[in-house]
Amino acid sequence: MKFLFPKFNKIGMPLLGAAAVALFVLQNRHKLRKRVRIAEERYLENGSVALAALPALRFALLPAMYGAAQKANKHNFGLLPRLGAPKWVKYTLGFALLDYTNYLWHILLHKLPWLWRFHNVHHVDMDLDLSTAWRFHIGENIASVPYRSFMAAFIGVPAPLVLFYEVIFEGCTAFHHSNWRLPFWVERRLCQVVVTPRMHGIHHSIVAQETNSNFSVIFSFWDRLHSTLRLNIPQDAITIGVPSYRNPAEQSPMRLFLMPFDEPRPWKLPSGKIPARNEDMPVTKTHLLP
Ligand SMILES: [Zn+2]
Repeated sequence: MKFLFPKFNKIGMPLLGAAAVALFVLQNRHKLRKRVRIAEERYLENGSVALAALPALRFALLPAMYGAAQKANKHNFGLLPRLGAPKWVKYTLGFALLDYTNYLWHILLHKLPWLWRFHNVHHVDMDLDLSTAWRFHIGENIASVPYRSFMAAFIGVPAPLVLFYEVIFEGCTAFHHSNWRLPFWVERRLCQVVVTPRMHGIHHSIVAQETNSNFSVIFSFWDRLHSTLRLNIPQDAITIGVPSYRNPAEQSPMRLFLMPFDEPRPWKLPSGKIPARNEDMPVTKTHLLP
């Protein structure tokens, strides 16, 4: 078959598998946030959501993005072919621009109500670890197919770059969702360039202003560029999840699968209280705290 992508299967998949095993060991040896739920229950829930959703990535998204890029390349369509730049410039710029379109897509997932219904399934997880990295509703993955394929063609990325980007994208998603406590000085430097576990932990907070920050996927500078960066929240002060979904019994695989078809609840705790941050935060929002 034309779109089996043997290199992706032979090199990309084993690399991602090895990264996932390494991150799993590291997050269990050096925990960043305390768990609030039994890990095995969540693994079952997140695994079920992923099992339904991953085929959409492999058999719809990847071929669609690759096919769109290939067509664009053939007809000299898109931004990059117009530059007439050397190959390495096209690859570097293409990689960065693909990442930028994913930052914008993540914003849309939060701002468009019908997309939020699907992305909510990812956010209602009450813990954040490696397994959350694959907890995306199949509807969210399918919705991303036309957007991401169009963007690949619009940028005019070289078709092989689509596959390379996807491996790095998946690896970085696994990394920043993991519960790995990196040495603080390392993470403080690292988050200047890429999204890190503490940075993404803030995006999964039940405090609305914190969820509405840190949308980047690979490079953290898109958040810096658009002033959506927030690093000034200590991890111990964060409650992970969505305030109106605090009952673990509502997170069975079937309930999660059907969740997008129910009216989303207002951003309030079951008590009616709206979560807020009371402590005085440092003046700068761009300063990572432990
Ligand atoms: Zn999100």
